[in-house]
Amino acid sequence: MDYTAFFNGKLEKLKDEGRYRHFANIERRAGDFPKADLHTPEGTKEIIIWCGNDYLGMGQHPKVLEATKRTLDDCGAGAGGTRNISGTTRYHVDLENELADLHNKEAGLIFTSGYVANEAALSTLGTLLPNCIIYSDSENHASMIQGIRHSNAQKRIFKHNDVEDLRRLLEQDDPSCAKLIAFESVYSMDGDIAPIKEICAVAKEFGALTYIDEVHGVGMYGHKGGGIAQARGLEDDVDIIQGTLGKAFGLIGGYITGSKEIIDFVRSFAPGFIFTTSLTPSVAAGCAASIRHLKSSDSERKIHQKNAAYLKEKFKNAGIPYLQSESHIVPVIIGNAKKCKQVTDTLLNEYQIYVQPINYPTVPVGTERLRLTPSAIHTEEMADQLVAALSEIWQRFGLEFSDTKAVA
Ligand code: PLP
Repeated sequence: MDYTAFFNGKLEKLKDEGRYRHFANIERRAGDFPKADLHTPEGTKEIIIWCGNDYLGMGQHPKVLEATKRTLDDCGAGAGGTRNISGTTRYHVDLENELADLHNKEAGLIFTSGYVANEAALSTLGTLLPNCIIYSDSENHASMIQGIRHSNAQKRIFKHNDVEDLRRLLEQDDPSCAKLIAFESVYSMDGDIAPIKEICAVAKEFGALTYIDEVHGVGMYGHKGGGIAQARGLEDDVDIIQGTLGKAFGLIGGYITGSKEIIDFVRSFAPGFIFTTSLTPSVAAGCAASIRHLKSSDSERKIHQKNAAYLKEKFKNAGIPYLQSESHIVPVIIGNAKKCKQVTDTLLNEYQIYVQPINYPTVPVGTERLRLTPSAIHTEEMADQLVAALSEIWQRFGLEFSDTKAVA
């Protein structure tokens, strides 16, 4: 077989479809987020990032930097082993205690990313629970889908956020089977929020465990930053709360929290937890500092909400159509991969604004979009620049304005 021709053929197809991934080579500047330097063969220029997930700017927070640097100096660079074999330090234990407390659960377990947490926890539970059936929201993240797939459990996909469809599926199944319902709180591409209360009520009726991915909610919602379930007073209703340390908390890593039995079970049986080197202690210390800060400080959350509302209002006035939702994520649908890339290239090349185009398979074909993430560290001036740039681009490319456009 001509392997090179095979690889090139597949890559050329991606390019033809306009969804070949070009990575922007950037350098974030601590203390100056969301500004960064963009490195290209032609040189370096300053840009403003509008598609990041460091929603609260905790990646540059002085307490996070101090804890990370101090632990790096104290403990060195790596963890030195898997959790089982010399890779559990007091920083890992401390972080797991912080996470359990964040979600008001008995125990927490950290993984090297949110992706790994989902893949490891769901595959382990689905494999080992007897005759397990997993009910999965149709818009669940790839990491949950992979975990469910790898579990080889039976799987039922319920319509997105549709509790009646979930109920219909549960009614059809054998009551004696173990059941697990997996869903997200904030859906990252549309920004909509799950009916958590209703899903948990149906789960209870049918004796199912509930597993929520709060990756886009943790740090951002709830009085301690415990996510949407906390903001709605529903933490006790959800059996397993999963999250990331790589978005609002500003570093890297993932976790689950739950009862001490569930956590001990996953800790004891999940290959994705057992057979990999643990997070570096300096990162664990930085994460714990970030969580501790956001548990007691509401100011970042408030500024963030204000900034998201400001951007949405400006888009509305300018007639830039965006998907409305309760959350902070502002998706602007372009509906065509090539056009989407043209828009983001123009933003970057002419306006120094960096927004990564979002294409299939991250979103369905025909819904290609800009996924804008106003953060606590964007200014109103930056938002005004973004709206002005997009208005100009909208006109230039003949894109459709929404009829909410304010009359000038
Ligand atoms: N779950 C959802 C809903 C996500 O959007 C992501 C990442 O974008 C993940 C899980 C994976 O988290 P991490 O980036 O920490 O691996």
